[in-house]
Amino acid sequence: MKIISNYSVTQELLKKYDLFAKKRLGQNFIIDPSVVKKIARDSGADSNTVVLEIGPGLGALTQQLSKVSKEVISIEIDTDMVEILNNELDCDNCTIIHQDFLEYDLNQLQDQQELVVCANVPYYITTPILFKLIESDIHFKQITMMVQKELGQRLVAQVGSSQYNALSVIISMLFDYSVVMNVDKRCFYPMPKIDSIVVALKTKELDKLFDYERFFEFVKKCFTQRRKTLVNNLKEWGNVSPILEELGYSQTIRPQELTPSQFKEIYEKESLWKT
Ligand code: SAM
Repeated sequence: MKIISNYSVTQELLKKYDLFAKKRLGQNFIIDPSVVKKIARDSGADSNTVVLEIGPGLGALTQQLSKVSKEVISIEIDTDMVEILNNELDCDNCTIIHQDFLEYDLNQLQDQQELVVCANVPYYITTPILFKLIESDIHFKQITMMVQKELGQRLVAQVGSSQYNALSVIISMLFDYSVVMNVDKRCFYPMPKIDSIVVALKTKELDKLFDYERFFEFVKKCFTQRRKTLVNNLKEWGNVSPILEELGYSQTIRPQELTPSQFKEIYEKESLWKT
């Protein structure tokens, strides 16, 4: 089967089905085979792994993922792409599901032992997708995602920086982060305005007794308004003032000044300060 991830095959497929890339669905297809090969190789998948792929498009990445894994389950929102994938993708271990990923019931994957996620999706849904994956009960060994360079920086933003937010705290608690590769905007058709990076989030060993879900709610609450103090943002949650004092923090401390472990420290003393 011919390699999908190049300019001529991408053009050929779009022409054959009388289609244009849809901007509103963030359709920028990878047209460089070395990019999809590298992503598949570093996706954490092997012959025992099921890959959940989000946004397969014309199947450029799907094709490579199928070679390195046991099975690929690809969720695609666009009817036209689903038709192309069903007609053209010659792949025995791939299942194409026509659905908006944000509506997809992840519990269907409950029985899978070894799962990784791989996605090249529109930038505007990267954050909701990450929250959906993180907040699900499914254990993913690794999430590999193509993201806009700037978003990649936000994911690993350090305390004190203007990019630091609830997602950066949550990501650093749950994952070891690494950059798989930088991807030049010329590797896509149509060419986007900005370059991208592929990041790998490898799931850390979690403390089974710790309620992460509730802690993440707490962190999000702390960041409700980043310009406000922690005391203000947490008003509905409880009165954090006494514990800030006990731990030696200023009463005017703002969320972007706290490291992930400091959030945890304050949260874990909740029984002492929650009213
Ligand atoms: N993976 C392909 C590649 O790398 O060439 C296509 C990537 S393109 C950037 C993003 C794909 O995600 C498109 O095919 C688009 O239709 C699909 N998509 C957009 N929103 C989606 C959603 N909510 N759920 C599933 N797929 C979505």
